Amino acid sequence: MSFSLGVKENCKPAKKINLMGMPVEKVENFFAELGEKRFRATQILQWIHQKGILDIESMTNFSKPLRRKLISMAEVRPPDIVNCEESTDGTRKWLIQLNGGSCVEAVFIPERSRGTLCVSSQIGCALDCSFCATGKQGFNRDLSASEIIGQVWLACKSLGKFDQNAPQGITNVVMMGMGEPLMNFDNVVDALNIMLDDHGYGLSKRRVTLSTAGVIPAIDKLGDVSDVSLAISLHAPNDELRNELVPINRKYPLGGLVSSAKKYLNKMPDNRRKITIEYTLIDNINDRGHHAHELADLLKELPCKINLIPFNPFYGTQYKRVTNCAMYRFRDILQQHGYTVTIRTTRGDDIAAACGQLAGQVNDKTRRQERYKQKFSDEQPVRMML
Ligand code: SF4
Repeated sequence: MSFSLGVKENCKPAKKINLMGMPVEKVENFFAELGEKRFRATQILQWIHQKGILDIESMTNFSKPLRRKLISMAEVRPPDIVNCEESTDGTRKWLIQLNGGSCVEAVFIPERSRGTLCVSSQIGCALDCSFCATGKQGFNRDLSASEIIGQVWLACKSLGKFDQNAPQGITNVVMMGMGEPLMNFDNVVDALNIMLDDHGYGLSKRRVTLSTAGVIPAIDKLGDVSDVSLAISLHAPNDELRNELVPINRKYPLGGLVSSAKKYLNKMPDNRRKITIEYTLIDNINDRGHHAHELADLLKELPCKINLIPFNPFYGTQYKRVTNCAMYRFRDILQQHGYTVTIRTTRGDDIAAACGQLAGQVNDKTRRQERYKQKFSDEQPVRMML
């Protein structure tokens, strides 16, 4: 890879390189072009992602001339936090502004033994799943690697990790925020590599999870370059229903998706890994007993655990939250078939941070947001949350 952005002495680059989102191999190449030793790359990663330092002048194990050279052509720039809300249950949600003015959301969920950060990968989402608030926002663009890992950096900064050695640390990261991560493949993989790197955030591959609606070619490609945990947003046990809930299913139907998930596991170095199946339960849509039996049958060859998520209503949706009775019946059927099943506790719904509720502020290029608002504004004249 070449960084021909004016790395010669006395040649001022038009745009500075943002080192925030560069994984170690890319920083190594950058330093090699400067004629510097490759080990400088790990030092940069430590300054940024372990010590939280953005000011290159403060990176004191670099000589003054090197710092000057770096400052002339590079910067370390995370996006900006424009709002932070804290739920009564301790969940925090940050509204993060990006170049161009749109905003995405990142959510931190503290639990007794772990802290999970949910990270966004796109401004809005082009896939338009019918039960998802993000989908209704339309789509603007992919996030850069700096904007993705920048959410982790901002959360660490906000939680005091850089100052006090993780009193409230981030132990898990889930790529389950706004957007379909596999539609932004290269930037997401760069950010994942920084999360896993011992000189970056040093997270275990089992504690970093990428969730996809099922972009089959990209799942196959991911298995060649990464071994993070994989979650599949399934939400339906047959193609007919999934075509309605998750429209990308029309392109990549369930049979191929389950095979692709199996292939992904086969590429993992250890054979104890499982796919997480996410299934949002929607009242009277996909929560009946026959759906549970059908799901059990569909997944019988796939090593997996199933995470049931009660649907979180958002403005304008016609769907309703599953009843407790239907949810426990669904779980019991799957357990009788021998599956490990968890029910995701709803966290942060008082600040619209619960699963499927993230909306951000999307300068929509698809006009989907406008059409959605139009559809509901006459019927329900209440404050729009979009
Ligand atoms: S569920 Fe995921 S893939 Fe579907 S619209 Fe929402 S963010 Fe996009």
